[in-house]
Amino acid sequence: METASIGRARELARKLLKDSGCKGTPVMLKDIISYLKNESGLECAPLELSDATSGFLVEDEDVSGIAYNSGHHVHRQRFSVAHEIGHFMLSHNNQRKNDIDRDETNSAHEKEANAFATELLMPLEFLKKDLKMPIDIDELAKKYWVSKDAMSWRIQDPTVLKYVK
Ligand SMILES: [Zn+2]
Repeated sequence: METASIGRARELARKLLKDSGCKGTPVMLKDIISYLKNESGLECAPLELSDATSGFLVEDEDVSGIAYNSGHHVHRQRFSVAHEIGHFMLSHNNQRKNDIDRDETNSAHEKEANAFATELLMPLEFLKKDLKMPIDIDELAKKYWVSKDAMSWRIQDPTVLKYVK
């Protein structure tokens, strides 16, 4: 099994933020999606899916598209869409036909897609400026439009922690 390339995933997320013109928080996924639609024809739409499925990426000769669970909370939808964009940007489907996300948190691709999504929604560049003690997770989660859980995991990342003032 190949090892995950977390650094490359984060780098690609930063590049996408820059290329799509993202200027601040919360990161607006609809702007990123419309940028990707222009650049690569990527479609994105909500779909009625079983609760265990957060979303998936389909790629073939004619169409590339992301579907996300229409019944999930918006925080979870944002993470799912960012995660699937990660699979798309990291060309994971060249190695595996279609990504359907259930509980595949162990593979290298899943780790990379999660690292991509985390950096895309809570970019280190923005977060650095917001890490003043005492840290208010509620406030930060609102500002970045993510769940409190997602934000507290993000803050525990050593690469983020070192910027806490
Ligand atoms: Zn995945």
